[in-house]
Amino acid sequence: VDPLTQVALTRRLIDIDSTSGREAEAGRFLAETLRRLGYEVTEQPVAGDRFNVVASAGAPHVVLSTHFDCVPPFFASREDAGVLHGRGSCDAKGTILAMIAAAERLRANGERRVGLLFVVGEERGSEGARAANLISPGSRFLIDGEPTDNRLGTATRGVYRVKLTAAGRAAHSSLPELGVSAIEKLLDALTAMRQIEWPGDAAMGRTHYTVGLISGGVAPNVIPPAAEAEVMFRTVGDYVDVRRLLERHIGALVQLDDVLVVPPVRLKTVSGIESAAFAFTTDIPWLDRWGTPLLLGPGSVRVAHTDDEHVAIADLLRASDLYEQLALTLMSQAG
Ligand SMILES: [Zn+2]
Repeated sequence: VDPLTQVALTRRLIDIDSTSGREAEAGRFLAETLRRLGYEVTEQPVAGDRFNVVASAGAPHVVLSTHFDCVPPFFASREDAGVLHGRGSCDAKGTILAMIAAAERLRANGERRVGLLFVVGEERGSEGARAANLISPGSRFLIDGEPTDNRLGTATRGVYRVKLTAAGRAAHSSLPELGVSAIEKLLDALTAMRQIEWPGDAAMGRTHYTVGLISGGVAPNVIPPAAEAEVMFRTVGDYVDVRRLLERHIGALVQLDDVLVVPPVRLKTVSGIESAAFAFTTDIPWLDRWGTPLLLGPGSVRVAHTDDEHVAIADLLRASDLYEQLALTLMSQAG
């Protein structure tokens, strides 16, 4: 897989719409490409016609892994002045071919202990990774690929999604003293949250959150009997610390229901490669049976998930060099 082929295959993969839930065709393309290169390929069923692609050329010590589903909307590839545009160009189809190119160079030099794992459903609940974790390949290290501008991740934040529900009592709005406004209670709770000092971490910074959804009320002339909001925290430690602060400060105003918890992750780094902490979550928490995790990938999370998703072709080629270098370093370590 020379650089020209790497870019051409990346474009072909981008041009297959694999929005989460519709990954089967892209999976078949990957499985076929890897079989043609001479890998032993397993298509691991996940749900419906969707499957993970697992490839090896020997017992893997290091596994290169990322996802081949994308966020909507799909848009096809375009190349312009050394930059590759298209859905998945940086998150994470460019990464897939950079990983394959690295594995191919290692294999050409007789190193067969590098495996490949490409999963579905990362963008919607990590169902592909959860399925992959049922397999135990015996690998010592997992290099996950997400857009980090080719830096090694030192840590990624966790997620804590919580639903806030306020209960009130409906009444005619001309007689407010007969009712209790759930919306006012919810607003009091959300306002109180702004004053809370959330947990911090030296590497990752302060916990932050988004009030992503809010709803309530039944009509303009009715005291609202119910209101709710869904809040997503990007955590830097145990979510229980955030939960306790919520209970203490707003527990009297709203009911708290946990929706989703993903723990923050500390990652292995290797000297000689630039590193940084990242606020996003990855499949890594669901792949703990695949080895000590590392995180690195081409492109920037600033353009991932946008309608301007793109990656410099030089960064794709640099990523494949870095995957090769990392794999060689890790191959000499016991894990
Ligand atoms: Zn991604």
